[in-house]
Amino acid sequence: MSETATLYIVPTPIGNLEDISPRALETLQNANWIAAEDTRHTHRLLQHFSISTRTLSLHEHNEDKRTAMLCQRLKSGETVALVSDAGTPLISDPGFVLVRKCREEGIPVVALPGPCAAITALSASGLPTDKFIFEGFLPPKTGPRKQVLECLTERPFTTVFYEAPRRVLETVSDICQTLGESRRIVLAKELTKTFETYKDGAAIDVKHWLEADAVRQKGEFVLMVGGAEITPSELSPEALALLAKLMPLLPLKKAAAVVAEHYNLKKNALYQAGLDMEL
Ligand code: SAM
Repeated sequence: MSETATLYIVPTPIGNLEDISPRALETLQNANWIAAEDTRHTHRLLQHFSISTRTLSLHEHNEDKRTAMLCQRLKSGETVALVSDAGTPLISDPGFVLVRKCREEGIPVVALPGPCAAITALSASGLPTDKFIFEGFLPPKTGPRKQVLECLTERPFTTVFYEAPRRVLETVSDICQTLGESRRIVLAKELTKTFETYKDGAAIDVKHWLEADAVRQKGEFVLMVGGAEITPSELSPEALALLAKLMPLLPLKKAAAVVAEHYNLKKNALYQAGLDMEL
């Protein structure tokens, strides 16, 4: 009986074809099957690199059915490479159902590191990267979208979204309304492509920049929102009360860290508040 083979998660370029790794190419070449979000799209990539591995489709509408079939093939010893149209599979792309099933059934899963628009954009954004949240796509309708954005009102760290070109201006307008015109945001557009652009600044300035030229609203976007700047005077009474209780028991640095962790706040703001209390 043949041994269970491995499912490989293979990231593909998000624009620049040079961004595929030698290991990714070798994995695609050697796999028995490539499971692709859109086989026609993936054929163009495979053709470019002269790879002739058989493909089959795996997308949001057939993922359950395909998962059963692929698990059988993996168990019979056939290697499968999973790709999406661009970037890292499963990151706002299909593949989760398959990977979870493989894990449940003891089928080995190996992920290759590679291109991902969110991480590429974040690393060059100039926004803090020590802690961030990835929210995928915002809801298409303005009401639910504003509800999601309101959750960022006090969030002290960077939030990363994917956004469609037809909605980017509306979303930046919604940010101005819900988080204020001065909230710092960064738009990363057409990453790794000829017209790669970063536009950063106050939300209102980015909105005006988009409005000034309709071409600026075209292409692929990662939208990043900077964390809320909470000053000591804006800290909630609950957070300040906990800090006051902890200060006699712990060094101020430690007390500020505990309260920051508990209420998801910035350590610095709490440390400053503690200093003010000591005066
Ligand atoms: N799995 C992909 C990844 O790892 O980045 C993301 C897939 S998601 C369906 C596609 C979205 O990613 C686009 O709508 C856009 O928001 C973002 N994106 C993909 N390529 C991009 C690029 N070259 N520049 C900016 N954003 C990009």
